[in-house]
Amino acid sequence: MLLDINWTLKWLTLCAQAMAGHRMELIELDRAIGDSDHGENMDRGFQAVLEKLAEAPPETPGAALKLAAMTLMSKVGGAAGPLYGTAFLRAATALGDATEIDSAAWAAALAAGRDGIVARGKAETGDKTMVDAWTPAVDAARAAVDAGAPDVLTILVAAAEAAEAGAAATDPLVARKGRASYLGERSAGHRDPGAASSALIFRAAVGAAA
Ligand code: ADP
Ligand code: MG
Repeated sequence: MLLDINWTLKWLTLCAQAMAGHRMELIELDRAIGDSDHGENMDRGFQAVLEKLAEAPPETPGAALKLAAMTLMSKVGGAAGPLYGTAFLRAATALGDATEIDSAAWAAALAAGRDGIVARGKAETGDKTMVDAWTPAVDAARAAVDAGAPDVLTILVAAAEAAEAGAAATDPLVARKGRASYLGERSAGHRDPGAASSALIFRAAVGAAA
């Protein structure tokens, strides 16, 4: 299978469902080490993405991700809005006008998205941010491609599992970027909300291909 516009629209729809379904969980995570708004921000942002897609249906995966990027940037707010907006925009640019995306192209798009988050937020691995979900996902996708993974579903599963493990691995970390860093040592013992929402996004990508 190759990733096409139908997959992309299903992915974004499942992202919106996941943010609605995990809204309270993300709010609670952000309450512990932030300002409690992450669940609300992500739910609002992805609902707006669905509205935009319905208004002007895009024809390529890149066009859909670009529309999502613009909407997330303007509707999510907080630190996460510009970061997710940049990630989706860089991924969209990497995909260009392609109508079908293979494993290597998808791995490259994820890497471009992660690089955008890092360029914008300057977080390193281990700073307890969404980068701690994205970088393992990017690395796992790349490794699966290099190992000759035959189909794109294998890449999506590898990325989702790595993102989930990466998000869980933020639990004991002390935050060094973003609002949670104001808490210093007290930020340890809680999962980073942005890493948790990123893991939901990577898992939704698997659901869209199933
Ligand atoms: P805010 O902190 O402004 O309330 P959100 O609650 O929407 O924003 O998002 C918080 C999440 O944003 C954090 O959990 C973290 O994953 C991510 N984040 C914050 N700052 C950075 C950064 N500099 N680089 C990468 N991710 C960051
Ligand atoms: Mg917040």
